[in-house]
Amino acid sequence: VTSPVYRGRFAPSPSGALHFGSLVAAVGSYLDARAAGGEWLLRIEDIDAPRSLPGAADAIVRTLAGFGFVWDGEVLVQSRRVDRYHAALVALQLDGDVYPCACSRSEIADSSVAQSVDGGRVYPGTCRSGLAAGRAARAWRMRVLAQEVGFTDRVQGAYAQQLERDVGDFVLLRADGQFAYQLAVVVDDADQGVTAVVRGADLLASTPRQIWLQQRLGVPTPTYAHLPVATDVHGQKLSKQSLARPVDCAGGAAVLAEVMAFLGQPVPAALHGAPLSEFWAWAVAHWSMARVPAQQARVAE
Ligand code: GLU
Repeated sequence: VTSPVYRGRFAPSPSGALHFGSLVAAVGSYLDARAAGGEWLLRIEDIDAPRSLPGAADAIVRTLAGFGFVWDGEVLVQSRRVDRYHAALVALQLDGDVYPCACSRSEIADSSVAQSVDGGRVYPGTCRSGLAAGRAARAWRMRVLAQEVGFTDRVQGAYAQQLERDVGDFVLLRADGQFAYQLAVVVDDADQGVTAVVRGADLLASTPRQIWLQQRLGVPTPTYAHLPVATDVHGQKLSKQSLARPVDCAGGAAVLAEVMAFLGQPVPAALHGAPLSEFWAWAVAHWSMARVPAQQARVAE
């Protein structure tokens, strides 16, 4: 089996319909893969069951097909892969990389003043050397070190965190029994042989944790490109939870051309009403990650 030089992916969470921001990640990851002659995989990240909406995954897949995206192979669905996440957790347990934690969110808030990169609190390490007597495990946490974990993002440039100071030991298996996104995404990218991750810059701050997990699991680190994040008129990131207006594939190439302008590569006006096949042929031929801006002032509705 030979692995391709480039294998990318788009990994939406089915917490709502596809919106402008997620379409940006879909287009950027797709064009970067196709322009490199590579493969592009589709993965439904429904591991966070409480946040997944019934029917949203099907709607996302239909919308992508309606815009003319063509993915390679089967669509991977996280909720069917819990045994793989469990196996990774067991491997980390055997290496002493994870430990059970009894702390509730409010206990952590009471014992830590440091803000984490996620907006929560840095975990102060209360349960690191064992549970106190009479305390029951709620979650499992990944140990981090007081050393820098960094990488060079293709769009955002050099980025690093000192995980112990900036995040603290982070949760892999949550108190509600769900595996955390950070573990699932690393296991999936490794199992699928993903070589290049292209996604929204809202996930930039997660990347050092993912690289740390890759190192401890002994799997390769892909290249990363974090695209500018689309905001609404109030400067808030568009998200499915904030009920950003869904994109409609009936808009065809004109909608995709808006995405391309957002990504710093305006499409000739003649193509705005063109058949999707013509639009995609032009876009693949002209794609340039170097022209993608790190931040984008243009505000989408
Ligand atoms: N499922 C994540 C989201 O929809 C994306 C994860 C990723 O691309 O690594 O925001």
